[in-house]
Formats: sequence, C-alpha cells, structure tokens
Amino acid sequence: MPASRPELLQDLVSLGVRSSTVLEVMATVPRDRFVRSDLIAHAWENMALPIDCQQTISQPLVVALMSERLALEEGMRVLEIGTGSGYQTAILAQLAGHVWTIERHDTLLDQAMARFAELNLENITCRSGDGSTGWPEEAPFDRIMVTAAATTMPQPLIDQLVPGGIMVVPVGGTLFDQKLYHVQRLDSGHECHAFLDVRFVPLVHG
Ligand code: SAH
Repeated sequence: MPASRPELLQDLVSLGVRSSTVLEVMATVPRDRFVRSDLIAHAWENMALPIDCQQTISQPLVVALMSERLALEEGMRVLEIGTGSGYQTAILAQLAGHVWTIERHDTLLDQAMARFAELNLENITCRSGDGSTGWPEEAPFDRIMVTAAATTMPQPLIDQLVPGGIMVVPVGGTLFDQKLYHVQRLDSGHECHAFLDVRFVPLVHG
C-alpha cells in the first residue's frame, strides 16, 4: 500500500528532520501536484521519482534536510538552481520572502509555472537557461539552493551570497561520491562542510 501524507511526515521526523516550520510546510505543499500523473499513487512515498526530460523530483527527506539547513527566515531572497518539478521551489516560497529559480529544460519550467499559478504561489520568479553562473542581475541573495550536482564548488554562486549568507549544494565528480555541502559566505572567503551523501542529476553547464 503506498504511503500517505501523515506517514511521510512521521518518517521525516524519525529520520531526523527537526524544524517545525519545515515539517509544517512539507505537510501543506501537495507533492501529488508535482509528480507525473501515472505516479500520483507514490507521491507521498519518501523517494525520488522520475519527471520529464530524464530528470527527477527529489526525495522528500532530502528536500526537508536541505530546506532545514538553509535556516530560512521570512522576507529572505532565495536563489534556486534546477527548478525541475517545482516542488522544492514551492517549499522555499512558503519559507522565504521571494524565490528566483532557474531551469534549463523549458518543458519542465512550463509545467512548474503552471503549478505555481494553480497553487497561487506569487513570490516566485522563473528563468529558463543555465543557472550555473547564478542570476547576477538579482544578486545578492540571502540563501542559494542548488538541486543538481556540481563537479566542483561553484564559486560564481558563492560570490552572489550576502556576507553571512548560506548555500546548500551537492558536489561530486560521479553519482557515487556526491555530498551535500553547507557553505557560508564570510566577510572574506567562505567556509563549507559536507553533511550528507546524496545522488543528484548533474548540473549541466551551458
Ligand atoms: N528540485 C527539483 C529537482 C530537479 S532535478 C525537484 O524536486 O523537482 C535537477 C534539475 O536541475 C533538473 O530539472 C535539471 O534540468 C536542472 N539543471 C541541471 N543543470 C542545470 C543548470 N545548469 N541550470 C539550470 N537547471 C539545471
């Protein structure tokens, strides 16, 4: 029997998600609206699922842990690279002031924008294209979330954070050695540490 919304929430708590605001938002954003119609029965399972263009909607646990790590506060300006289904974007939009999100597949971006409109999420600005160099016209950002794996730590994105700003980004050369990094920009330079083994689709350049 596929999992239900309350079962997923229980799983997230037992797997270590602590933030009550993140848990509340995970309970309210309808993941079933972001998955392919043939996979709706699996929408509340704690697993990544295929979406169009050979991409994936992230695993709910990873969405929750990444969102928690960003320590979002009301009013914050957030940049997301890799809109995909738009699920993580919708979660961020509930926790922050405004989200700018970039996706290289127009098909996915069109689907995500239709979902944002249906759900009346008005604090999201979308752009199609390569997000690996960020969104300089809108920088600086309080927070940046990257939902595709970079091969090396993306310095252009760090440069678009405010001092003290936080980025969460998967980095790794192959699918099997990716780690999620918490990066904080300092007045000069930055500090970073890995906190989770993950498997994301690659961040494609160009
Ligand atoms: N958060 C999304 C994850 C989607 S998978 C979700 O839960 O649905 C990662 C996405 O990053 C894919 O849609 C892929 O097309 C996109 N992507 C990869 N490289 C990119 C780049 N350089 N710029 C923008 N988007 C990129």
